[in-house]
Amino acid sequence: MINVFQPTLGEEELAALRDVFADNWLGHGPRTKAFEEAFAGHLGVRPEQLLFINSATAGLFLSVQLAGLGPDDDVVLPSASFVSAANAIASTGARPVFCDVDPRTLNPSVDDIRRAWTPRTKAVVILHYGGYPGEARQIADLCRERGALLIEDAACAVASRSDGQAAGTFGDLAVWSFDSMKVLVTGDGGMLYVRDPERAEQARRLAYHGLERPSSFGAAKVSHRWWEMQVREHGQRVLGNDMTAALGLVQLGRLPEFVRTRRRHAEQYDKLLADVPGLRLPPPLPEGHETSYYFYWVQVDPALRDRLAAELLERGIYTTFRYPPLHRVPVYKSDHLRLPATDEASESTLLLPLHHGLTPDDVETVAAALRDVLRQLTGSAGHAGTDDRLPAATA
Ligand SMILES: *Cc1c(COP(=O)(O)O)cnc(C)c1O
Repeated sequence: MINVFQPTLGEEELAALRDVFADNWLGHGPRTKAFEEAFAGHLGVRPEQLLFINSATAGLFLSVQLAGLGPDDDVVLPSASFVSAANAIASTGARPVFCDVDPRTLNPSVDDIRRAWTPRTKAVVILHYGGYPGEARQIADLCRERGALLIEDAACAVASRSDGQAAGTFGDLAVWSFDSMKVLVTGDGGMLYVRDPERAEQARRLAYHGLERPSSFGAAKVSHRWWEMQVREHGQRVLGNDMTAALGLVQLGRLPEFVRTRRRHAEQYDKLLADVPGLRLPPPLPEGHETSYYFYWVQVDPALRDRLAAELLERGIYTTFRYPPLHRVPVYKSDHLRLPATDEASESTLLLPLHHGLTPDDVETVAAALRDVLRQLTGSAGHAGTDDRLPAATA
């Protein structure tokens, strides 16, 4: 079985966990702090702006609270988002307003965001599809110009950059995910970035019950009733811990190597699949952009996509699609909404296996199977009957 995503863990991670056990400190502590500092260095931001939490989803729920969203507000986001973004928005009573995306990159353009804007738009949530930074910079400019907050769901974009600037640092708030199928994994975990220093302090309080001062042995030295609580806001309990932070520190060190390996696999797919009739490959990265190579996505005739996935599964190759459009999901269903590019992409796109545990042979196996299945599905070899239903394969 060739998996679509898979983590790589080894002796180094195990040794880091052993150290945590030896210190007998599992909770939020020195390793959490060290991970925040190291990740800040990786992004080029200040450590105080980062908070290691237990998932990206928790970070999205914190972000909407920090953004002060409520029932009178609209939030623009692509329908092709992960559901936790919409869930976070809806939890505040605000209304998610879905925008369209580019049919090939599955990222919204700044015009897509502009078209969906309403007079009540108070925030925008974008992600970086498969790691491609997209127009995050231009979208951040638009938000600033119109006085709305930009929240970046950078779950796909742990090593993505646009002209040297890390994806996730264009807007006001951002989250990264370290869940077990991401590029950098901690089991469960996430990072929250908060641009504004005061809001970053508020984030720290809200992530731990709203406590203004953590109760701890340290506090006993400065207060005679150290168990009393100062709570002025409704907090949550979403902090990360030193076990997951220890894993994160090791994985962050290995990240450049992970991304290099993924890049090699993506380039190998590009080569092996370049001339397959009826198959569209990921569009080239714009000049100055860097990706984390989280997804390798191909696009085929919508009439073939599901059968292609089923046939590949028969051959032990697991593929999938991200992110099923939210305007088609029961809880967010909106029948009148017309998002043609999102619909087109969601019917034609398939993610091929891409992770740093793959070997070049695996990539070759997947590419050969894909070629073979497509040939079967479209009839004879070289049959280009599906081609005319697809726009030109070049950028
Ligand atoms: C994985 C993912 C999430 C959720 O991350 P968790 O850490 O599991 O909460 C959110 N958004 C996107 C785009 C993702 O890919």
